Amino acid sequence: MKNNSQLSTFNSQLIMWYEENKRELPWRNTTDPYKIWISEIILQQTRVAQGYDYFVRFIERFPDVQTLAAANEDEVLKYWQGLGYYSRARNLHAAAKSMNGVFPSTYQEVINLKGVGEYTAAAICSISYGMAYAVVDGNVYRVLSRYFGIDTPIDSTEGKKIFKELAQELIDKEQPALYNQAIMEFGALQCTPASPNCTLCPVADGCLALANNTIKQLPAKQHKTKVTNRYFNYIYVRAGGCTFIKKRTGNDIWKNLFEFPLIETPEQISEEELYSSPEFQSLVGSDHLSVKLLLGNVKHVLSHRIIFANFYQVDLPDGKTLSNDYIRIKQEELEGYAISRLTQIFLEKNKS
Ligand code: SF4
Repeated sequence: MKNNSQLSTFNSQLIMWYEENKRELPWRNTTDPYKIWISEIILQQTRVAQGYDYFVRFIERFPDVQTLAAANEDEVLKYWQGLGYYSRARNLHAAAKSMNGVFPSTYQEVINLKGVGEYTAAAICSISYGMAYAVVDGNVYRVLSRYFGIDTPIDSTEGKKIFKELAQELIDKEQPALYNQAIMEFGALQCTPASPNCTLCPVADGCLALANNTIKQLPAKQHKTKVTNRYFNYIYVRAGGCTFIKKRTGNDIWKNLFEFPLIETPEQISEEELYSSPEFQSLVGSDHLSVKLLLGNVKHVLSHRIIFANFYQVDLPDGKTLSNDYIRIKQEELEGYAISRLTQIFLEKNKS
């Protein structure tokens, strides 16, 4: 481990680098905790380039806690459409409703908000209130593990403790907001996962991973993320200019988003197998006018799942309807509902 003066040199080098290289982003011109909170939640699983427009649109429509709390959840989800990890939007909405119109001002209250963990609480409290809570996210793990040459797995209890303590020791108590933003930006732009810019790195002289040629191995992880395959057969039913959708419920992906009738199968099945399945038969009955596979073999990759999707089109006689589980809407009304990126892809392809 390095001594105090080396640690403070590392800090000032990072801050200097940040002041010269930081990106101008809309949430960097404010200390409003509400806006910092929204930006941090958006950026949790989203790249800045994608999150930027979502943040601007979201803040334009929901400029403060009161507006967000008063909104309808379906509308909040609609503004989140395409970002993925929809529990973030549901939690934001629930947390806004719990605030009684005022954003909390202590670390304990902030971390008690639904969907807020240690990282987000530290980001909000340091940036908005100048409190010296160090952030530890993927970027920070990467920078610290490489610079200090720490190979304790970041997903182990011991690793989490080591990195949390080190980050807290390193944070600049005088300017925690600046330091936290500097180390995260440094991880995002300079010390990147696959191609860190070591040649032009201000801390290269003290970087142990560079000296020991262990950059590729750090940060270390003990578990690989388990990915499961799922097989979705969507039935796009048309009848008299209308189609049918349903809100997803249960503890699963895309909760509370809308989608076409879905038949999920344990493995990929053929068109014939689908048409003769009891689920398909009970969904559309036998008096359909036509049925065809419209879009097949769509591979949609999420963080822990790969979805293999087929979209079928079934035309029914004009007045025909599905069971009460489904909402009958005009085709053009679909745009008003929050849907998954996968359904959006289908609609875009089906238009062209
Ligand atoms: S020298 Fe390379 S690995 Fe080390 S901190 Fe700089 S960019 Fe990261």
